[in-house]
Parts: sequence; C-alpha cells; structure tokens
Amino acid sequence: MTVSAKTAALQKADSAHYLHPFTDHVDLAKKGARIITRGEGVYVWDSEGNKILDAMSGLWCVSMGYGQKSLIDAATAQMNILPFYNSFFNTSVEPAIELSALLAEITPPQFNHVFYSSSGSESNDTILRMVRRYWDLKGEKQRKTIIGRKNGYHGSTVAGASLGGMTSMHEQGDLPIPGIVHIDQPYYRENGLKLGVSEDEFGLIAAGWLEDKIKEVGADKVAAFIGEPVQGAGGVIIPPKTYWPEIQRICDKYGILLISDEVICGFGRLGTWFGCETMGTRPDFMTFAKGVTSGYLPLGGAMVSDRVVDVLYKDGDFNHGYTYSGHPVACAVAVANIKLMKEQDIVNTVKNDTAPYLKKAWASLNDHPLVTDAQSEGMVAGLIMLKDKTKNEAFDEKDNVGMICRGHCFDNGLVMRAVGDRMIIAPPLVISHAEIDELVGLARKALDATL
Ligand code: PLP
Repeated sequence: MTVSAKTAALQKADSAHYLHPFTDHVDLAKKGARIITRGEGVYVWDSEGNKILDAMSGLWCVSMGYGQKSLIDAATAQMNILPFYNSFFNTSVEPAIELSALLAEITPPQFNHVFYSSSGSESNDTILRMVRRYWDLKGEKQRKTIIGRKNGYHGSTVAGASLGGMTSMHEQGDLPIPGIVHIDQPYYRENGLKLGVSEDEFGLIAAGWLEDKIKEVGADKVAAFIGEPVQGAGGVIIPPKTYWPEIQRICDKYGILLISDEVICGFGRLGTWFGCETMGTRPDFMTFAKGVTSGYLPLGGAMVSDRVVDVLYKDGDFNHGYTYSGHPVACAVAVANIKLMKEQDIVNTVKNDTAPYLKKAWASLNDHPLVTDAQSEGMVAGLIMLKDKTKNEAFDEKDNVGMICRGHCFDNGLVMRAVGDRMIIAPPLVISHAEIDELVGLARKALDATL
C-alpha cells in the first residue's frame, strides 16, 4: 500500500530503532507499521487518516473508550500537585490511599488490601513471591509448586511467562522456572469433543485434571492454582459453567490457594466487577491491570485476601516492591476511571444490555460459511474459522488464516485479533448497539474477503 511521505518516514524510523513486543520484525520491515495517531470513543485513526473501530480496546484495556475527559483531567491535576512520590519506608500518597479504599469496596468481601505494580506481569510476579512466603510463614515450606494451565497467559516476565502456558514463550529462555507445572485448558472443541461428552460434563473432567496434578505432585507440595476466568490471549476460551465451581471445590479440598488473574476479566469485562464473580469462585488473590485505568496510564496490582494478609504482614516486612508501586498519577486516573464506571453504572449496563446485545449480534456470524462457535461471555468474544465447515475440518497452521483475516479487518476499518484460527474481540464497554452492529458488519466483510 502506498502511504504519505510522513507515514513512510515514521515507518522507516520505527523499523530502524523500535523493537516491538510480540512482532515478526522481518515482516514489519517489509510492510511497515500501521501508526495509530489518535482515538475517540470506540474509534482510532491511523497516520493516513483512516478511521478504525477498535474492537480490542487497544489491548483489552480501554474499557471506557478514548478521550474520556475526567481521566485526562485527573492525570493533569495530579501531575501538577505531585507527579511522583514513592510509598516505601512509611510514606504514602493520597491517590493510592483513595484507590485502595475504592478497590476494597468494589472487590469481593475477602479483599481489603491491595499491592500495586505497573502491569499485569509484575502483578503475577508479585503473587509468586507472596504465595511462597505465605506458606513459609505457615510452616509449610515444602508447598512451593504453583499449577497453571497450558495456553494460559499471565504475562511476559520470567515468573509471568512461567505461570502462563504458552509453549512459544517457554521455548525462548528456558521456561518455566522450577516449581511451576501446567494442566490442560478447559477448551471443549480441542479437548472435549473427542471425549464425546457434553460441555458440562467436560467442565468437570477438565477441573479433575487439577486434582490429578495435585496427586501427581503431592498434595502437601502444592501452593496455589492460577487461572484466568476466561482465557483471553489464548483465544477467548470460555470454560463450561461447571468448570470453575469444581476448581474451587478442589482447591478447598486440598487447602490450595486460588489466584484469579483478572487482568482482562476484571473491571466489568464479564458483566460483574470481577470475573471470579461471574464464574462463582472465591479467590485468595486477584491480579489486575489494564481496565483499572482504562489503559490511560500503566497500573497493575494484586488484591490480597484477609486470610493471606493476616499471615504475610503479621511479622512486619515483606521485602518486595516497585519504585512505581502506588504511582500517584496512575492511581488518580484509576480513581477517576472507577468513579466514571460507577456514575455510568457501566457494569450493570454491560450485564443487562450491552453484553446480551453483543452475544446475539456476534452469534449471527455462525451462519457464515467459514465460521463456527461464535460465542461471547460479557464483552469478550471469539469465533473459529474452519476450512470446511460441512466436515468440521480445521485449517492448517501454515494456512495462516487468522493473520489473513486480521489483515482484511484492518483494511476494512476494524481491529480484531487473531489467535491461530480464532478471531477474537474485547470492545470498549461503552460501545453502543449501533457500533456493535457496525463491528459485526465489518467482521462479516473481513470474513467474506478471507473465504
Ligand atoms: N494476565 C493476563 C490475563 C493478561 O491478559 C495479560 C496481558 O495481556 C497479563 C497478565 C500481562 O499483563 P501486562 O502485559 O500488563 O504485563
């Protein structure tokens, strides 16, 4: 595609100096980056002036949409008052105090304390240390193993990538680190269909893999289980309804801590403040990031349950922290974001209006000759593209069908993400019915072009 001289110059400099996350740089150098220059509501514009419906909310972040003035004003005001001070060594800052109280209010009752980081990855790193320290203090030093899931995603740092189950990441850098093991994911199409059971039966079977792993490792050696309520980066894998309650039962049975990674599912995405509430679990930890500030500034954290806090902070120091833990400007934006969410009653709106509307509109794609399993949970949705729908025949990896469809989306003014043969979305929570109709219409166009 020919582009303006300004875009060409930007692309050249980008390719010359900027190492992008999760990007094929050979391909990037050939094609040039699409440079996004501004955003408003659910739309972004690129440097060529093209308007694009952002059905991924940036990267699962921009829940309240682009251009929210109250968030911008909160950041500006706090920058003027106090751009930075740390919360180490008996100091604190007002926005972090206010945010902590707000988080205690909107999270499930077992949570009254929060530890801050700047990202989801750091939050999960924090948890690894907290879990192990908890069991040390409880006098069960041998409880070190954390169980995660294949195709789960918990970040890119050493601990985050180890807790996650992405083989492509494990292959690069000798991961996972010792003491982290994985079980299969509750993905019905991949792991359930061949068993010839119903989805609900499969949910119990998939949860049972946790119990099998606990027995294999030794029940007295297992410290915790970590999972995303709905796997996001793995391709929006929505578990059967029976799965999470059974996981909770197994964790309770063996006294194992449950970590709910709410980096995507938190802050209203599933139509409840936190995904664990939709799934019916009572986690001991919740990690979060992204939607806490609608992505306007980097902020992450870990909600720590009372029973863990009572042990972990009983004897003074837990030697852990980041310079930017409780960053005043990020916390001020988070406070403004949560206040805006409350003012707009966005969580109930998602639950009772936007998510049911999206579910119906998205499911209409199931009649497309390429598509099956167009499903959603709250404001995340995914579909599978099949090579031959009549024979239930999957595409080969080398067909690269996801990336082809993603390209057609971009060309048609839509951001969808591709994960293998799955196309996924997580639009801003503030999206209107008309915008959902537009999104699904554009998705259909891109699928037509992929045929
Ligand atoms: N956990 C989940 C469920 C995520 O989806 C992500 C990022 O997408 C992370 C953790 C890592 O967050 P970050 O990229 O902010 O480090």
